[in-house]
Amino acid sequence: MTNEMKALVKAEPREGLWLQTAPVPEIGPDDVLIKINKTGICGTDIHIWNWDEWAQKTVPVPLITGHEFAGEIVELGRDVKDIQLGQRCSGEGHLIGKHSRQSRAGKFHLDPETRGIGVNEQGAFAQYLRLPAFNVVPLPDEISDDIGAILDPLGNAVHTALSFDLVGEDVLVTGAGPIGIMAAAVARHAGARNVVITDVNAERLALAAKVADVHPVNVAKEDLNDIKAKLKMKQGFDVGLEMSGNQTALDQMIEAMVMGGRIAMLGIPPGKSPVDWSRIVFKAITIKGVYGREIFETWYKMIAMLQNGLDVSGVLTHRFKVDDFEQGFAAMKSGQSGKVVLDWR
Ligand code: NAD
Ligand code: ZN
Repeated sequence: MTNEMKALVKAEPREGLWLQTAPVPEIGPDDVLIKINKTGICGTDIHIWNWDEWAQKTVPVPLITGHEFAGEIVELGRDVKDIQLGQRCSGEGHLIGKHSRQSRAGKFHLDPETRGIGVNEQGAFAQYLRLPAFNVVPLPDEISDDIGAILDPLGNAVHTALSFDLVGEDVLVTGAGPIGIMAAAVARHAGARNVVITDVNAERLALAAKVADVHPVNVAKEDLNDIKAKLKMKQGFDVGLEMSGNQTALDQMIEAMVMGGRIAMLGIPPGKSPVDWSRIVFKAITIKGVYGREIFETWYKMIAMLQNGLDVSGVLTHRFKVDDFEQGFAAMKSGQSGKVVLDWR
């Protein structure tokens, strides 16, 4: 093996990413080295590319970006005993500490010391990635590298969608981005009665309807109440999954919920946004903030669902060789894509 590799690097504190040569990472006793096959481009990577305010205050330069990946194990640290060389895998990109009360209680996803690969630590947009063996998630044969590369955002969708009991419920998903679409598919798979998904982008709503058995509503043109009547819903939605980060969408969701409705909120509003708290109080609505994936319960559930009929493959709309990464980022930025995957082989 050579000790150099290709990597997509935030090499300078300005817009863009650069495909550079970097040293192959050295691993510690509890780490593995993963040869990357495919990676997914995330909204987070677009923030880092754009070098917006959040990226400027979060991301060290230089840094190898990227956190959505599938690959195979090519080297084991001295103390790693329970993983085989050649194992295909994805992995949790949140590196947790072992000291906080939450970690010690086994609630790893709530650890305040969490650091993200591709955000705070060297990332997965490279031919090789060092990862603690603890974070490795083996891929069963029936899960392809393409799907393996989008398990991180599918995990966000699964974590959010399974936050509340969906069986027989009417579910509203606001935002038909890749994660909203996958959450809608998960909600259907998990037994929701009706799933309505909203957006203001016609292409994305069309993609949602292609990927999952859902009712798309373009809230720029249509009244959300019309679909309620069409679906013979008596009151409102029982469960809401906020996946847009848009203030108007959250307002609309609160209006559309039943008394006592439950909302899981993954979308990240830009800065402070006004909320009509009195509506939330008088409707007795529960809102749960959702961050990342439950480590590793979400991974377990999502792999089990993928092995039992959940199909989100249609959300993957673009594939590029890594040398054409600029086209991949352009597709993501166009707002017309689903998931975009880069091939590192
Ligand atoms: P995305 O930006 O691709 O999709 C958001 C969608 O919302 C877009 O299609 C947009 O057109 C749509 N939208 C805008 N205004 C709307 C409105 N008024 N009503 C309905 N839809 C509207 O994002 P994504 O990658 O699918 O991620 C979804 C959200 O989850 C984002 O806000 C992202 O930042 C957030 N996120 C959070 C976590 C977490 O851990 N909490 C992790 C990943 C992503
Ligand atoms: Zn991501």
